Amino acid sequence: MSGLRIPVDGPDGSGTANAVNLLAPNPSPMTLDGTNTWVIGRAEAVLVVDPGPDDDAHLKRVAGHLSDRRVEAILLTHGHPDHSGGAGKLAEMVGAPVRALDPQHRLGDEGLGDGDVLTVDGLELRVVGTPGHSFDSLCFWLPEDRAMLTGDTILGRGTTVIAPDGDLADYLRSLDKLRQRAEMLEAEALLPGHGPVLPDPIGVLDGYIAHRRQRLEQIREAIRQGARDAHEIVEMVYADVDRSLWPAAEMSVAAQLNYLKTL
Ligand SMILES: [Zn+2]
Repeated sequence: MSGLRIPVDGPDGSGTANAVNLLAPNPSPMTLDGTNTWVIGRAEAVLVVDPGPDDDAHLKRVAGHLSDRRVEAILLTHGHPDHSGGAGKLAEMVGAPVRALDPQHRLGDEGLGDGDVLTVDGLELRVVGTPGHSFDSLCFWLPEDRAMLTGDTILGRGTTVIAPDGDLADYLRSLDKLRQRAEMLEAEALLPGHGPVLPDPIGVLDGYIAHRRQRLEQIREAIRQGARDAHEIVEMVYADVDRSLWPAAEMSVAAQLNYLKTL
């Protein structure tokens, strides 16, 4: 792969030869530095992945960055508002359809799903279905750059949460699927929905898989020690985690409790 860019001062401007990140100004404990809006393409035409929140300044910046290049489509890694909120406005600004797994988030006739292959300016982008973080989560493989866009399935820092519309069993299967693909395709970078570019895909995925197993074991242990609900489990298992993240942790624990019940 050529052209991996990892700026030291944050994710803005990071990417690979054919993918550049325009960071949205919505930082928070959940969105890290903000949402990464990915522009994929070459001189003639592009795909925009995740326009980010409904933020006029950000959307204008994205449109400005495209200059004369045609936008073939706006793609969503999933429908959460920090990724999709600005999609309608950007679609209007650049005259492009919005393609997503969830029909509710589409503009135009075309959907998006596992196995789809998009071609823009001779560049391929392959859709990989990765439900779990949300029911509609997709990743996008950019073969030319050996890079996988991961949305919120894998983040640039820390770990992701299972949202109320997600499912932990699905998520564990999606991690295994990504791990297999990363090895088979010799992936060289993960381009996440938040946070910096990750240059060691297999190392990161192994870390995610190990982390999930460890958390599940900690939750089993907390239950053995008498924790009775998600809140009590968070107090025990996430004692070392910043309290601002506890509501997210509680959501994640609830998802894990549901999962453990199905075993
Ligand atoms: Zn997000």
